[in-house]
This record gives sequence, C-alpha cells and structure tokens, in this order.
Amino acid sequence: MAPISKETDFLVIGGGSGGLAAARKASGQFGVKAMIVEASRLGGTCVNVGCVPKKVTFNAAAIAETIHSAKAYGFSVKEEKPFDWPLFKQKRDAYIKRLNGIYERNLANDKVEYVHGWARLLSRNEVEITTDDGSKNTVRAKKILIAVGGQPTKPKNVPGAEYGVDSDGFFDIATLPKKVALVGAGYIAVEFAGMFNALGVETHLFIRHKTFLRNFDPVIQDTITAQYEKIGVKLHKESAPTKVEKDPSTGKLTIHYKDSENTDGAAVADVDHLIWAIGRTPMTANIGLEEAGVKLDDKGYIVVDDYQNTSAENIYALGDVCGRVELTPVAIAAGRRLGERLFGGAAYATARLDYDNVPSVVFAHPEAGSIGLTEPEAVAKYGRENLKVYNTSFVAMYYAMMEPEDKGPTKYKVICAGPEERVVGLHILGEGSGEILQGFGVAIKMGATKKDLDSCVAIHPTSAEELVTLK
Ligand code: FAD
Ligand code: NDP
Repeated sequence: MAPISKETDFLVIGGGSGGLAAARKASGQFGVKAMIVEASRLGGTCVNVGCVPKKVTFNAAAIAETIHSAKAYGFSVKEEKPFDWPLFKQKRDAYIKRLNGIYERNLANDKVEYVHGWARLLSRNEVEITTDDGSKNTVRAKKILIAVGGQPTKPKNVPGAEYGVDSDGFFDIATLPKKVALVGAGYIAVEFAGMFNALGVETHLFIRHKTFLRNFDPVIQDTITAQYEKIGVKLHKESAPTKVEKDPSTGKLTIHYKDSENTDGAAVADVDHLIWAIGRTPMTANIGLEEAGVKLDDKGYIVVDDYQNTSAENIYALGDVCGRVELTPVAIAAGRRLGERLFGGAAYATARLDYDNVPSVVFAHPEAGSIGLTEPEAVAKYGRENLKVYNTSFVAMYYAMMEPEDKGPTKYKVICAGPEERVVGLHILGEGSGEILQGFGVAIKMGATKKDLDSCVAIHPTSAEELVTLK
C-alpha cells in the first residue's frame, strides 16, 4: 500500500453515496487534493446492503409474479424447480463486487486518494486513521466531511432478539427460506416482506399499528396494507414480539408476540429467519465528534444548516448521518452541491441541496411513490378550504386478462393548493409507479399546476395518462 499522505485539503470520512460524490466532485472537477477513508466496502449502504442488491432481488420477485401472471395471457409456463436462490445470490454478490471495483477505479480516475481504514477525529483538522494492519496514521486536513451514514437499529428489551438479523443480514441469507418473520413498518420491512412473499416464502410481518408506511399519504398506507393481506402476507397488526426462542437442534425460531386479539400471547413457530427492520441509527458514536466540537441532536444525528455546515468550522456533514431524507440520491446531490460550494469559486458560492419535493418510491407490491405533502400535511399547511384533491382508482389494463384475485390496485392522488391549483403533493401506487414518478417530479419541482398537467397530451394506453386527465 502507498504511504498515506500526512496532509490533504479535503478529507472525507465514509465512502458511501454522499462521501464518494463530494470527494469526486472536489478532486475530479476542481482539482482539489482530496482523500476518502472507508472502513468497509466502497459504495456504502446503497451499493452493498441497500438499494442495489435490494432492487436486484425486487426484480427477481417481479419476475416470479410475471411467471404467475403469464398463464392469464395464454402461456403455459411450467416451473421445473423452485427459485434458485443460491445461484441468484452468487450472481448478485458478483455484481456488487464488480461495482466495488468500478467505484475504486472511479476514485483513481478522479485522483482521489483512497484509504481503507477507520477514521476518527482528533481535533477540528486532524483525523486518525486506523488501517487494516492496525497501524494508526494522523492526517491534517483543511476541510473535513463526515458522511458515515447509519446502521440498522437494534431492538431493545425483547429476549432472544439476537436470534434475528437486520437488513444487512438479509443479504447473507444463503438458501430460499420456507418461512420468515419481519418486524417493522417502514420502507425496508414492506419491501422485504413483499419480495419474500412473491418468491413463495410464508411471510409474517409484525407491525405496531393498523397500517404500515405511516409516513406516507393515507391512500398509500391503506391500499398497500390491504393489498399485502390480499396477496397472502400474514400481517400481525397492532402487535409486538415479546420473546424469540431458537430450537438448538433445528435452528428454527419461535416468535412469541402480543396483539389486540392475543393479549395473553401467541406464537409463530418454525421460522427460518427473523428480520428486524425498525429504522436506522447514525454511526456517530466514538468518532471524535465531541473532540472536534461537532454537535449532535438528541437522536445522535449531526446537526447541520442548509449548507451542510456543522457547528465546527470547516467540518461538514451530509447523507444519512444528518437524518434528513435518508435516500441515496439525496446524499449524492448534497455531496455534489457541497463540493461545488466549497471548491467551485464564486459561481457556486450559494450551491446547496433543496430538500423540498424529493420524490421517493417504496418497491412494494405494487410499487408506491410520493412527492411533496401528504393530504394531512397539506391540510395543516394550507387549510382544507384552500385545497383541491384529485383522486382516481382503476384497474390497469395489464390486469384485464386476469382473475379478480390476481388484479392489483392502481390509485393516484394529486393535491393542489390555492386558486392557481399548484401541485403540492402527488401520491401514486400501481405497476410502474417507480418509473412514472420521476418525470412528474420534474414538473412539480418546476412548480406545475393542475392546468399544466392537463395541458400535456396523454400517452395511450398507459396508466400514467390518468394523471393528466384527472377530473
Ligand atoms: P452510507 O452509504 O451508509 O455510507 C457511509 C459509509 O461510511 C459506509 O460505507 C461506512 O462503512 C463508512 N463509515 C462509517 N463510519 C466510518 C468511519 N469512522 N471511518 C471510515 N468509514 C466509515 N435509498 C434509495 O434512494 N433508494 C433505495 O431503493 C434504497 N434502498 C435501501 C435499502 C436498504 C435495505 C437500506 C438499508 C437502505 C436503502 N436506501 C435506499 C437508503 C440509502 O442506502 C442511504 O440513504 C444511502 O446509502 C446513504 O448514503 P450515505 O453516504 O449517507 O451513507
Ligand atoms: P423507517 O424509518 O422507514 O421505518 C421504520 C419503521 O418501523 C418506523 O417508522 C416504525 O413504524 C417501525 N418501528 C420503529 N420501531 C419499532 C419497533 N421497536 N417495533 C416495531 N416497529 C417499529 O426505517 P427502515 O429501516 O425501513 O428504512 C430506513 C431508511 O432507509 C428509510 O427511512 C429510507 O429513508 C431508506 N430506505 C429507502 C428505500 C427506498 O427509497 N425505496 C428502501 C429502504 C430504505 P410505526 O411507527 O408505524 O410502527
């Protein structure tokens, strides 16, 4: 390994979505001497244990659904053997490894010094790096970016919780399970439960309330929750696991739980894997933030202003570690804007990411996507009397050939405010929602009104055309 520089102009801690974007912007575009320190695998959460392997698995689940639907279109598809999970996993792992290599080459092309090791702040401009052989190196840096992301939150007070895994562990599952249990009600629990179910695994999902995805508009919460029950996910509503036991001979788990119907307790036995998906925790412990004077909020997230400045001069933070819209494209955009502002000169003096109207999609079954305010948020902000809400619910043409039990929902909601009917919220669910939302996101970012949507001629026959013909 080449010796580590003793000084650098821009030191980035964390080689995930945000850190890589900022370091490459600084060095590749503006020629700044930059270093990035990554303790684990380049690409961070998204590439290794997040968006990328998740979406590949979602694609496998979608293919399973298509094979099932093919009969309705006249195909006689015979599945000779069940889904070959070990082969799929081997190919998925190889793809991620290729991406790790590409990320390393990109850093070299942009002349970013890459150090594999654990970084810790010693002061406002000194970072200690512990490399893989255990040796410690101190680097002085003019500016430091903290982009260390987060990790899955561990459950508290559930005896036997350690027999379960988290979202990282999901990607290590080696064979197709027969029966799984998931706990949580956000993106990860809903995405994983949908994928397992589509791949034929008996899937139990424990949620604390009557619906999941409670941060989304009610149309998404209610419809996707009901659809999951329809497609066979075993939903344990208003429930909480109380104890997990492991059979030492078979390795199978029993999840004891309580819910409104089983106040004395009930259990799900013979579970191959239990997955906790109850949120994420920022990786801010023991990295010298106190020594450098970087303030945290009460949940351990780094406090930053609109320009990603922390409370310590010349120290910046972005991405999941700040806890504001924890999505890869958000971390990347924040990283690029920061690189521009710090090193791009006068033309970029006020560059920053606008966190309003960020679109996102839950890769559920079917997909659901959102941008802007939910209806309750819009009512709170503008008052019901100043809103016009357009809704449509229909059976997409894709399902026309199918039996009722195989038909999925499609619902769209557009929330408009003021006399000009500016679109302040758009919520969609149904086949292809992930791809549909991006273009509408551009329109809404540009300040689209209902009239603007109506002025675009429909593309027929599609589902998305309903969004430009709403009455
Ligand atoms: P990370 O990508 O987490 O990178 C932080 C890096 O810092 C890590 O590689 C870590 O090893 C390293 N690090 C931490 N501490 C140190 C240290 N002291 N020294 C050196 N290195 C350190 N987002 C989407 O937009 N779409 C999706 O479909 C999506 N799916 C997801 C699915 C799952 C299962 C999960 C868990 C997340 C998903 N996300 C998705 C969220 C997305 O992955 C994150 O928002 C994104 O990765 C955040 O980027 P980041 O740069 O802030 O942090
Ligand atoms: P989320 O914060 O989205 O959801 C976790 C949910 O689990 C909470 O909202 C809560 O819902 C429930 N919960 C919390 N504590 C408990 C508990 N002790 N027992 C049972 N349920 C509990 O976290 P995720 O882990 O799902 O995902 C982390 C982040 O990663 C997301 O917020 C998102 O930003 C990102 N991500 C994005 C994806 C995408 O873009 N497609 C995909 C995956 C992740 P309730 O209050 O209703 O019980």
